[in-house]
Amino acid sequence: MKIEKLDAPQLLGLNKFNVDEEAAHIVIDKTICARCLEKPCLVVCPAVLYKLDKNGEISFDYAGCLECGTCRVMCKNKGIIKWEYPRGTFGVTYRY
Ligand code: SF4
Repeated sequence: MKIEKLDAPQLLGLNKFNVDEEAAHIVIDKTICARCLEKPCLVVCPAVLYKLDKNGEISFDYAGCLECGTCRVMCKNKGIIKWEYPRGTFGVTYRY
């Protein structure tokens, strides 16, 4: 497989994740998110982990997080109540 011929989703697909099922490294407060009009997390997360559910509420799953920190920076209303890197041995391993 020639790496230079892969597009972004294919490159991201090379990554490996060891998800810490016992401790989420990112936690959101949905009551704060519900009052946020801009919801930048929906567009800035490169892994598209923030979504609107059928009730119009933010849903989020930290599995698949690339640990870029963009959501933390862009969340001006402090809906992200916890953001830290995963515990040792957990999280993303970049393959390229
Ligand atoms: S740290 Fe980056 S990849 Fe992880 S949830 Fe936030 S924006 Fe998405």
